[in-house]
Amino acid sequence: MSKVIVIGGGAAGMMAAIAAAQKGHKVILLEKNEKLGKKLFITGKGRCNVTNAADMDVLFQNICTNEKFLYSAFYGFDNTQVCDLLEQAGCPLKTERGDRVFPVSDHSSDVIAALQRELRKYQVDVHLHTEVKKILTKETDGNPVFCGVECADHKKIAADDCIVCTGGCSYASTGSTGDGYRFAEETGHKVTERKPALVPLEIRENWCRELMGLSLKNVEIRMQCGKKTWYEGFGEMLFTNFGVSGPLILSASSFYSKNFSKRKASDEVKLFLDLKPALTPEQLDKRLLRDFEEAKNKQFKNALDHLFPAKLIPVMIELSGIPEHKKVNEITKKERERFVSLLKHLELTITGVRGFKEAIITQGGVNVKEIDPGTMESKKIKGLYFAGEVLDLDAVTGGFNLQIAWSTGYLAGMN
Ligand code: FAD
Repeated sequence: MSKVIVIGGGAAGMMAAIAAAQKGHKVILLEKNEKLGKKLFITGKGRCNVTNAADMDVLFQNICTNEKFLYSAFYGFDNTQVCDLLEQAGCPLKTERGDRVFPVSDHSSDVIAALQRELRKYQVDVHLHTEVKKILTKETDGNPVFCGVECADHKKIAADDCIVCTGGCSYASTGSTGDGYRFAEETGHKVTERKPALVPLEIRENWCRELMGLSLKNVEIRMQCGKKTWYEGFGEMLFTNFGVSGPLILSASSFYSKNFSKRKASDEVKLFLDLKPALTPEQLDKRLLRDFEEAKNKQFKNALDHLFPAKLIPVMIELSGIPEHKKVNEITKKERERFVSLLKHLELTITGVRGFKEAIITQGGVNVKEIDPGTMESKKIKGLYFAGEVLDLDAVTGGFNLQIAWSTGYLAGMN
């Protein structure tokens, strides 16, 4: 039986503590906040998208960075095992559109309560208001070995093993202030560059701001830089006072952050919106002809309400170059074709991403080359483990990021 310290009482930390305690170890969970799971509480807009029920190959397809590193973790503790653990701990789950799994109650607090019941069941010693400041190591046979931690009140706690689950550096108000990156660097590990990911995008075109608050469902987007397509996706997006947001945009942003530094500096990054993805340009043209036939004596501005939400109409008229008062039966074939093209390829220029404050996750983190993927133990310091968002791992939206936290936390705890 070892004495194990887990630093951070988020998703990865609670799971790591439960797994280590299930193995019979004496586990101390140190959390600097006044309660456990502050970030978990706000996940999924307060509903917590616990995981994704898709097949394993789909899980891997949705990981943006270092998916191969996750092989042992995902197979060792997969999405069904997460669901079983939570349901057996008294949190029934349901699966929604896109295989997203949520608690039946729609309350993230029920996920946290279930994990807390497990922590109590396995007698994990939870210390709240306890901030770890330093990882302590000693030399054994010339090699550095973990031996304890020092807390903010200078108290030292000795232990055999430690699992660092301090999260990333987004939404720092939940406690994830990036301390784990410092712990990693101070103990000789490399930490890759951190960037905000799953984050809204800033857009140059001013007309975007006129659409603030407008949400578009069932649109297709393509993010393109030069001739290279960085992301293609379908779903829901939202216009904001600085650009665009919403689930589809957040997923796209991960590919922006990942590829941006590799692009030719002169290449702009464009976002093309297809407002009518279900129709080919020919079908859309026919549809327009039909709409225009029915409204042939109306002005252009009064013939579009079947096509768009009201807020979008003035913007689309402006961008089309067709005078708003022009009679529909006077619109030329060329004008109509240009309009179809506009609907299928509405062009936006991305000027940047919002900051960590608005980012769902952090891209980058502890270099996984220095971590054993079969155990989550550091290859540099014996007895020191890392799990969750502190590692250089990230995924798109849909429950995949929490699955990373559960799987890596569990594997670290078991080992
Ligand atoms: P965290 O959950 O951030 O936990 C880290 C913990 O460590 C914190 O409690 C912190 O206080 C503690 N800590 C930090 N430093 C110290 C220290 N020095 N000493 C002691 N304790 C310390 N993912 C999904 O899959 N589904 C979703 O629905 C979803 N929704 C999200 C919504 C929002 C608004 C945000 C911000 C994120 C969302 N995510 C979602 C992402 C997901 O929440 C994270 O990927 C996940 O919480 C990471 O878990 P973690 O345990 O690694 O880190």
